[in-house]
Amino acid sequence: MEKFAIAIHGGAGTILRSSMTAEKEMSYKNGLKDALGAGEKILSSGGTSLDAVEAAIISLENNPLFNAGRGAVFTNEGKNEMDASIMEGNTLMAGAVTGVKNIKNPITLAKTVMQQSEHVFLSGLGAMEFAEKMKLEFAPDEYFFVQQRYDQLLQAKETDSIILDHTETKISGKDKTGTVGCVALDVHGNLAAGTSTGGMTNKKFGRVGDSPMIGAGTYANNNTCAISCTGHGEYFIRAVVAYDISCLMEYKGLTLKQACDFVVNKKLVTFGGEGGLIALDAKGNIELPFNSEGMYRASLKSQEELFIGIYKD
Ligand code: ASP
Repeated sequence: MEKFAIAIHGGAGTILRSSMTAEKEMSYKNGLKDALGAGEKILSSGGTSLDAVEAAIISLENNPLFNAGRGAVFTNEGKNEMDASIMEGNTLMAGAVTGVKNIKNPITLAKTVMQQSEHVFLSGLGAMEFAEKMKLEFAPDEYFFVQQRYDQLLQAKETDSIILDHTETKISGKDKTGTVGCVALDVHGNLAAGTSTGGMTNKKFGRVGDSPMIGAGTYANNNTCAISCTGHGEYFIRAVVAYDISCLMEYKGLTLKQACDFVVNKKLVTFGGEGGLIALDAKGNIELPFNSEGMYRASLKSQEELFIGIYKD
C-alpha cells in the first residue's frame, strides 16, 4: 500500500491534567479519534488529502467540544462568527472565509471558495451570500448555542476581557479549547492543510485571527510541508508562522523538525506568542510542537499506530 499520513489538532493552551476529569479526557480523545478516522477513511481508499482535511475538520466542527462550527465561541454581541481556511500543496490553491455566521461547516465554505470562485478570501455577508448561492448548509442560532460557551462570554464581559482559548483566566479549568485543524498527505504524494475556529470569546470590532489567513494559520506546499496553527492569533499573524516554517525548509534547507522547533520554541517564545501547530512534510514526517501547557492532537500514518496526546508529557 502507498503511504499516507494525517494529523489533527483541537486547540492549544492551558490544558492541565489537574483540571481534567477522566470522563472529559475520554470525550476529547473520542472526538479526536472520530475526526482522524474520517480523514483516514478517505486517505486509505486513495482519496485526496484535500478531501481528508475537509472530512476531519467537519467532524471536529460538528462536535460542540471544540471552538469551531457548532462549538464556536461567542462574540461580544452574543453571536458566533467563524473563520476557516484550506490549502492544497500541489497547486498552491487556497480558499478562506472570515466572520461568517450560521454556516454549519465553514471549512466546506473555504473549500468551495477555493474550487468555485475566482477568489481566495471572502468575508462576512459576502461570504454568506456566496454560501447561499453554492447551496451550502446553514444552521439556526440555536444550533450554535452551547451553554458553557455562553457562560464564558458572560464571565469575559464581567471583566471586559477578550479571551483566547488558551489564556489563563479566572475561568480556566472550564473547557475553552479549541480551534481545530488538519494536515494530510495522500497516496498520490499531495499535501493539504486546513484550520477552522470561532476565534476568541467576547471578540469585537470584526477581529480576525491567524486561522483564516493563508501563510499565518494555514499553509501547504508539496515542496516543503503542510501546517495548521493554533494559539494567540495576533502573534501568529505577525510571525507569519505557517509560511515561515515552509520558507525555512525551502530557502534554508532545514528539516521539518528543525524549522518547527525554531519557529514554535524560539521565535514565537521571544515574541510572547503562546500556542502550537501540526506539521507534515511530503515524506510523511509529522511534527506536533507547542509551547503552551498542552495541545489536543492526534496523528496516524498508514500501517502505524494511532497517536493521541493532550498534555506536554
Ligand atoms: N488562533 C486562533 C485565533 O487567534 C485561536 C486559537 O487557535 O485558539 O483566532
